[in-house]
Amino acid sequence: MLQLITILNRCHRFPGFVYQQARFSCDHKSIEIAVRPRKGSRAICSRCHQPASGYDQLAERRFEFIPFWGFLVFLLYAMRRVDCRRCQAVVVEEVPWADGKRTLTKAYMLFLARWARRLSWKETAEAFRTSWDKVFDAVEHVVTWGLEHRVLGQIDAIGVDEIQYAKGHKYLTLVYQIDLGVTRLLWVGKERTIESFQGFFTVIGEEIASKIVFVCSDMWEPYLKVIRQRCSEALHILDRFHIVAKMNKALDEVRASEARHMAREGLAPVLKKSRWLLLKREENLKDEQRFRLCDLLRYNLKSVRAYLLKEAFQQLWDYNSPAWAGKYLDEWCRQVMRSRIEPMKKVARSLRQHRELILNYFRAQKLLSSGVVEGLNNKAKVTMRKSYGFRTYRTLELALYHSLGKLPEPESTHEFF
Ligand SMILES: [Zn+2]
Repeated sequence: MLQLITILNRCHRFPGFVYQQARFSCDHKSIEIAVRPRKGSRAICSRCHQPASGYDQLAERRFEFIPFWGFLVFLLYAMRRVDCRRCQAVVVEEVPWADGKRTLTKAYMLFLARWARRLSWKETAEAFRTSWDKVFDAVEHVVTWGLEHRVLGQIDAIGVDEIQYAKGHKYLTLVYQIDLGVTRLLWVGKERTIESFQGFFTVIGEEIASKIVFVCSDMWEPYLKVIRQRCSEALHILDRFHIVAKMNKALDEVRASEARHMAREGLAPVLKKSRWLLLKREENLKDEQRFRLCDLLRYNLKSVRAYLLKEAFQQLWDYNSPAWAGKYLDEWCRQVMRSRIEPMKKVARSLRQHRELILNYFRAQKLLSSGVVEGLNNKAKVTMRKSYGFRTYRTLELALYHSLGKLPEPESTHEFF
């Protein structure tokens, strides 16, 4: 134990304080380490961060430190109060290992927060014998610090995306930076309204917003409106990933309603278990699935026709020239409008309406890494799954910033592991 104190005093030193003594708690489950102010050092006022003269001392408090050898570790310290002339008040002192209100030490918060990026928060709490709330506190501390200290710099390209986080149309708006060198989550907002998306531009400010060159989004009208308003100079691109997602949704609708109809009429259930056959790209199917797909395509079904239209649409992305892509798109829409498949016609109408924004994809193709928004969207979904059970907005906001924000971390006096 004496050696432990020596090691801590050497490697995890706090200026103005010393570790004095370590002992096991009565139940032998934790190690308690007493901390004392170094002789002659003055307490720091937590309001103005300057040394001030002492006033009195409060009762001893326990601060949770990083556990080792399977023992919980606590720092014991009696906070001093100072009579600060600058602040003209009696104020609790500032200590370097904690931030005042919380019982977790900063080092432990950083430690827990790092694990909470790899494991779910629940697993992190279990692994280190602490509570979910403390993991939450730890992540909140690290994320808050990171947001205060991050550098936005120049942003060339952004992608805006919506994600559903609870039943009943509860959405978040996510804004990513999608520059070739830097991809990160910049902002999370509640709901997917004009007001909410405006919030992002308030955060980054006029200066940075005016220099954005590319904006990727889906066809959600409130987003389109804000982009027209705030990034009028930027090239606005409808993201390929969002268009494909929309098409898949339409196809799925056709298949589901046709399957129901066939069941009602007592017809052979040929569409049974066909969902993924139709939604997946053909090259991603296993041999056996491809075989079943070929079989299915022999039937003259609405679902089959919708599927063929969707597959034909994929060819659009092979074009390099916006002009040729435009011709192909127009022809495809014409065909769909004659198809009498209402969900697909709805997609075609919306594509026609946003024709120019879709063709911007080809105008910017060489300059943006495609698939970036899709990749980030998938990561966001994984993050949400990891914090399941606690789907409050605040939790998700923190979890998303924590795993996708690439935020700077508070410095630690000592790198643990
Ligand atoms: Zn002060």
